[in-house]
Amino acid sequence: MGIRKPVVAANWKMNGNKQLVTDFLKAVADSGASTNIDIVLSPPATLLDFTQTQRDSLCKDVILAAQNMSQLDNGAYTGELSAQLFKDVGCNWVYCGHSERRHKYGESSKLVAKKFIQAKKNGLVPVLCVGETEEERKKGKAFSRLTSQIEAVINLAGKDCFDNAILAYEPVWAIGTGNAASPEIAQEAHKFIRGMVAAMRQECSENIRILYGGSVKPENAKELFSQPDIDGGLIGGASLKPHDFVEICQAAKA
Ligand code: PEP
Repeated sequence: MGIRKPVVAANWKMNGNKQLVTDFLKAVADSGASTNIDIVLSPPATLLDFTQTQRDSLCKDVILAAQNMSQLDNGAYTGELSAQLFKDVGCNWVYCGHSERRHKYGESSKLVAKKFIQAKKNGLVPVLCVGETEEERKKGKAFSRLTSQIEAVINLAGKDCFDNAILAYEPVWAIGTGNAASPEIAQEAHKFIRGMVAAMRQECSENIRILYGGSVKPENAKELFSQPDIDGGLIGGASLKPHDFVEICQAAKA
């Protein structure tokens, strides 16, 4: 992983409760896992206020992230949550374009790009998630899918868009399936993504952290994270088990 500080980010999706927040933060604090890596926690939005308070007393280093966010400013949008609302409960990062948002809620790459811009405009670090489906991979279209998802953001946000941003390669076929990408397949995709950023801005490509997501577990984390272009992970299921998550963090340090 070299010069880039590793990131291990938890995505609890629509799971968890106050007890798990406390257990998670205590496990991270007790393990010392947050030394030299960025640890990110993204519980459901209803738990963020509580999480902020617990974080401040148990493990100050943990960064809070929103799982999704409106592309709009505050206003008459019942049920939506804005960047300002997330900032008010201590969030500094936000996931944009998670595959479940794209595939289960029909978020287009253009909408994801608007959310990405909204995050930056409000001082939140966007984590842009990209990844191909199984069918796209089988048809040899994995890289064209990644290209179109990344280009949608560049087209709307401009060539500097990945300064102060994070990218996450999350193949749809690997998320929640127990079937992680092999380190070789993941590295190939990460190298391709870094190359796309380099074609715009070399310096940014050397600094930007690109996370792998999709069935990361304590057993496979070390091999994945040891690939030269993989700078950590975005962790779903295993982040609901604090001790597994801590083990994954330790693998990112090695
Ligand atoms: C995710 O939701 O981003 C994810 C990678 O999930 P899982 O680790 O469960 O595959």
